[in-house]
Amino acid sequence: MKQIYAFAEGNMEMRALLGGKGASLAEMTNLGLPVPPGFTITTAACHSYQTNHGLSDDLLQELDTHLTALEQATGKQFDDQTSPLLVSVRSGAPISMPGMMDTILNIGLNDQTVVALAKLTNDPRFAYDSYRRLLAMFGNVVYGLSEKAFDDVLTTMKRDKGYASDLDLTTTDLQAIIASFKQLYEQAGKTFPQAPKDQMLAAIAAVFESWNNHRAVIYRRENQIPEDLGTAVNIQTMVFGNAGEDSGTGVAFTRDPATGERALFGEYLLNAQGEDVVSGVRTPQPVAVLQAQMPAVYDQLATIATKLEQHYRDMQDLEFTIEHGHFYLLQARNGKRTPAAAVKIAVDLVNEGLINQHEAILRVAPKSISDMLHPEFDPDVLAAHTVLATGLPASPGAASGEVYFTAADAKTAHDAGHQVILMRQDTSPEDIEGMIVSQAIVTARGGMTSHAAVVARGMGATGVVGMHALSVDEHAKTATVGSTVLHEGDWVSVDGTTGNLYRGQITTTAAMVKESLATLLTWAKDASRMAVFTNADTPKDLEQALASGADGIGLTRTEHMFFQPERLLQMRRLILAKDAAGRKTPLQALEKMQEQDFYELYRLANGKAVLIRLLDPPLHEFLPHDSREISEVAQDLGLEQNQLRERMAALKEVNPMLGHRGDRLAVTFPDIYEMQVRAMMHAVFRLADEGMKVTPHIMIPLTNSETELIWVRKLVTDQIKQLVATKGIKVDYEVGTMIETPRACITADKIANAADFFSFGTNDLTQLTFGYSRDDVGSFLPDYLSKGILPADPFQTVDTEGVGAFMQMAVEKGRATKPQLTIGVCGEVGGDPDSVTFFNQIGVSYVSCSPYRVPVARLAAAQATL
Ligand code: ADP
Ligand code: MG
Ligand code: MG
Repeated sequence: MKQIYAFAEGNMEMRALLGGKGASLAEMTNLGLPVPPGFTITTAACHSYQTNHGLSDDLLQELDTHLTALEQATGKQFDDQTSPLLVSVRSGAPISMPGMMDTILNIGLNDQTVVALAKLTNDPRFAYDSYRRLLAMFGNVVYGLSEKAFDDVLTTMKRDKGYASDLDLTTTDLQAIIASFKQLYEQAGKTFPQAPKDQMLAAIAAVFESWNNHRAVIYRRENQIPEDLGTAVNIQTMVFGNAGEDSGTGVAFTRDPATGERALFGEYLLNAQGEDVVSGVRTPQPVAVLQAQMPAVYDQLATIATKLEQHYRDMQDLEFTIEHGHFYLLQARNGKRTPAAAVKIAVDLVNEGLINQHEAILRVAPKSISDMLHPEFDPDVLAAHTVLATGLPASPGAASGEVYFTAADAKTAHDAGHQVILMRQDTSPEDIEGMIVSQAIVTARGGMTSHAAVVARGMGATGVVGMHALSVDEHAKTATVGSTVLHEGDWVSVDGTTGNLYRGQITTTAAMVKESLATLLTWAKDASRMAVFTNADTPKDLEQALASGADGIGLTRTEHMFFQPERLLQMRRLILAKDAAGRKTPLQALEKMQEQDFYELYRLANGKAVLIRLLDPPLHEFLPHDSREISEVAQDLGLEQNQLRERMAALKEVNPMLGHRGDRLAVTFPDIYEMQVRAMMHAVFRLADEGMKVTPHIMIPLTNSETELIWVRKLVTDQIKQLVATKGIKVDYEVGTMIETPRACITADKIANAADFFSFGTNDLTQLTFGYSRDDVGSFLPDYLSKGILPADPFQTVDTEGVGAFMQMAVEKGRATKPQLTIGVCGEVGGDPDSVTFFNQIGVSYVSCSPYRVPVARLAAAQATL
């Protein structure tokens, strides 16, 4: 089996065998680019090294052959006293693991060849500089001597001599350093092998070994890179960036990796070698300066950059060396970039004719773009701040503001013109007003699907939840984090992407490249099979979602409209009324308000579908909590406190989420749903009078059976028919149901008889399938994740095996009854890329997610289709 390939024998297709670096060196060699000659030892040889714990005889023989060929090609020889061959031994795995494994430069130098090199180049300083570098790298990589010990020798010398930079070291200094380096070897009981070939073999073995060094193992685990790939080893003729002021070394990107701007971007250092640029020993110059310094070299770099981009059809990251004004290419690979740059580059490459729209769509990770839609902290300012505490990063973004500990205080401060952040132990629907006005929401308790998290994401506010180090005392109006006490009105800053809390104000930068992203999303829309709807409860949500291109509204939760002071009062009157007669007045008041809400949503949606879900949550959520509130409410309602407490006790449930909620409310209190339907129809009529035709989509929550749905549906349609008859116009309407209980999935064929559409409520379906209370998962889910019992939080990424199987069953059964049935998904997972892929697979018609996740879902939907 052939274990070594000369650069001219390989190509990019051979990545698995030659590693990324080897394959690309081969490809570039064959493109005629200035790559110093060399050869690559395969990953297969690495495997055989690992099993045999040594270099095989076959490999040694092949090495001799290739070495001889390299000597002939370069006219230089190992250990030659006039023209010695020097090489680098470079690691290179099939998947890039930057800086994780080792590389040794200047192999071939020894006490004799260093003299030869000095004579040949007429530059003894350069020769000894190269030798000291070899001794340090070899000692570190092959013998594990500490890098710092070598650095210390250098630093001490510079300090003793009063030098500012490595460049001030003279030949004599370097010779002294070399002597000290050799002593370091001796102290460790090692000797530096003088024979170049021994150096090379030891270096090859060390690179093979470096596959298993600690940091490489950790990196692979972090990045899910298979353990058994192995690394290739590249032997490459040295070119010298440290050969004087007309030489240098650098790295460049063909486009700006931060913004995607089309311009050469990078840094270089004159009279330097290898890692000097990135190691920070000297401050490098921006590549633009090279244009003035060495125009011909710069032009060559620019030409090669364009050529490589044309060839690889992507932005490239280059490593280059200049030796006496000659340009050499040492590495090129697809460059890492920020999400914003990824979007801009993908779109620009389409416009430049290098890739097509589908390729552009596939080049951007959907998850990454959600970060682009939010501001970020200015990294320079951020660096000067220390983290007070960290919680779960629930909703991305970055915000500063004055801290308040109750929704009411936040609202008051906001109305007085302050920029506020709401910090609470946890939040409930009642806090909504305070949440709306806050730049960020921070809670001490709760998980990624807690109320605070869901609402923050829904509103696009920055959110951090489950910050366990935090303790909020809303009565004392303070919060404690370790030894720090925050008082009401103190400035804090919250990073929803990292979950960090800071004290003080930090300036933000807007991170969005609106134009490119908008273009990419249009292409994605054309390419997707599924539509992308949004969840929106307020006109503001809806505007945001329409601006990000939502195709419709998949979920309007009417209950969120009730959490405003005046409405809450009417709602409480309604709930606490003794009988139907007592419910009448509050119902009338609520109807007026809901009509206006629906009117605005329908008008804004301008013909796009708006799915309105009838009242869903347990009624007790609307009731007062503490005694102060109870006395206020009793007064409002003209009740004795005792009476109120009695009524509340009667409503109390042990398991409210499994209790009196969803369409069960309609079965016991038909007048509530009737009121909502009336409000909806009156809104439709008003718009009809204004010349806008609206088809209301009414969604019934928590249905369990066909009989139940037929009952509730009749309640709804009787109301509609009656109103339509009175109004005397024709209105199309659809009445559909949420599918969010296992029973509904199992009987979906029957339920479909009574439903005009289905919409999966994945939050409830997950809760009921697992038997996990979504409000309490915070206490055990982290352990399930860290112990590997669950692969992911099922409330974040759909559990395809269990919940997904129910969904697939419901899709199949529903469409067996009604082949054209529209089936949507609303719920947190609607905006999760992995889940979107699955929904596309099982034939879901659309996903609906928070406004801010619409672009993410759109891109994921397109990728799932392609
Ligand atoms: P890494 O994978 O960590 O980037 P490399 O193998 O690319 O390691 O080597 C690091 C640097 O060493 C290169 O960027 C280049 O500057 C220098 N280098 C490697 N081989 C040679 C060579 N043959 N001639 C000159 N410089 C080299
Ligand atoms: Mg490199
Ligand atoms: Mg539900």
